[in-house]
Amino acid sequence: MNLILLGPPGAGKGTQSKRLEEKFSIVQLSTGDMLRAAVASGSEIGQQAKAVMESGGLVSDELVIGIISDRIDQDDCKNGFILDGFPRTVPQAEALSTMLAEKSLQLDHVIELTVDDDAMVERICGRYTCSKCGAGYHDSFQKPATEGVCDNCGSTDFTRRADDNAETVRNRLNAYHEQTAPIATYYGDRGILKQVDGMAAIDDVTSTLENLIG
Ligand code: AMP
Repeated sequence: MNLILLGPPGAGKGTQSKRLEEKFSIVQLSTGDMLRAAVASGSEIGQQAKAVMESGGLVSDELVIGIISDRIDQDDCKNGFILDGFPRTVPQAEALSTMLAEKSLQLDHVIELTVDDDAMVERICGRYTCSKCGAGYHDSFQKPATEGVCDNCGSTDFTRRADDNAETVRNRLNAYHEQTAPIATYYGDRGILKQVDGMAAIDDVTSTLENLIG
């Protein structure tokens, strides 16, 4: 099963993808995560992406399309994948269609998590993850049971993304509205777009998604 989860930064794509990965034995492919790993490793791709990412802009279509194409070819994607953060522009959506056709693959669902923009800055600026296992938390909405200790693995080491600050978040939301919202229209026109209220409680969003794709 191959899916795309669409929605602005903070809509819950990462959180929901992790749950769907387990339930359907498919792999989450987040271009943001891949690019952050490239920046951390200091690779050539990372060096090209770093400044753009820090400002909240979009890295080049060519670069992300190449990353995704290589990643889909890996063995762990055989059972299916969830694209998170890609495609983000209409040219990326078009390139994805061509790429999947060449690989004899198809998209089963495109789901947009819809949100209230004003709530997004608070949601994003409060989020953090466990440095050891990647479990996601939030200052207001999803605290660990014991403060400062990861529920999942017990680690006390947490990280916040460098681009989760109010100014960059606003730039990322603007980039979403200008460049990414049109891809919802792109998939809507092809009759494969479904919308889910991303402002609902996390568990309710998960059930709705599972029912839609299960
Ligand atoms: P994300 O984790 O999806 O919010 O992505 C973080 C940053 O990585 C974005 O603000 C962009 O700079 C870059 N990025 C991630 N995915 C893409 C993409 N599909 N196209 C262009 N830039 C991307």
